[in-house]
Amino acid sequence: MHVVLIFYTVLGLIIGSFLNVCIYRIPLRKSIVFPRSSCTRCGRQIPFYDNIPVLSWILLQGKCRFCGASISFQYPFVELLTGAAFLVCGLKWNFTPPTYVNSLFLSATIVLIFTDFHHRILPNVLTLPGIIAGILLSPFQDPAVYMDVLSVKIAGLFEYQTARAVLPWAGSVSGAVIGGGILLVIGFGYQKLRKRQGLGMGDIKMMAMVGAFLGWRLTFLTIFAGSFLGLLAGMYLIVFHKQTLQAKLPFGVFLGIGSALALFYGLPFLEWYLPA
Ligand SMILES: [Zn+2]
Repeated sequence: MHVVLIFYTVLGLIIGSFLNVCIYRIPLRKSIVFPRSSCTRCGRQIPFYDNIPVLSWILLQGKCRFCGASISFQYPFVELLTGAAFLVCGLKWNFTPPTYVNSLFLSATIVLIFTDFHHRILPNVLTLPGIIAGILLSPFQDPAVYMDVLSVKIAGLFEYQTARAVLPWAGSVSGAVIGGGILLVIGFGYQKLRKRQGLGMGDIKMMAMVGAFLGWRLTFLTIFAGSFLGLLAGMYLIVFHKQTLQAKLPFGVFLGIGSALALFYGLPFLEWYLPA
């Protein structure tokens, strides 16, 4: 068990290294396979021994071996984040299929968080295959995420709520439709009221992907958590950085963090709130 967990975490670090390539190249519409990584200043190819996740960055003290250009802390950070995501998925689902489904989901989410942060884009090449993958992999997802809530009125007086299992694909498809739909409605309403675009199509497709992987209940929690985090960030910018309310926040960043919180803390929260 421990050896497997260590290997799986190291796999996460290596995948994180690949996610760095995706974060850098997808917005530039470059291939994520070829050519091999090179320094963005001097253009020299990075030798394999300088491409070891986290370790190389520490050994090189965050500088290119050839020209000394500084290498962003984001590279080891994304690797550590992905390693941690894999570790937590291994611990939570004990190497049953949901471990792998959610490692994939979190990997895609990490790329979306960073492309949105740097470029304000949530690339279709991630969100659209993400929606399909979420639906196709739904039989392998933790069935608890697709639970539905059944309300029963007892003698017209008390309302008793209980969770019931639904077919994975039905939970996944309805999650995608509801996740994308809520953001579509919010975005449309905002545009009507404020006469400017508040949400992009990327946010809508990202939430359809979240819904496909996490079902509609955790999708609701993702939107609540994401909006709350966005609100905190907005207040921080207004108070400490003298930004105006018009400042455009990368909402996908907050939705991504919110979806990870919903995945790990959402079900215990729902059990507490809606005892079965
Ligand atoms: Zn260089």
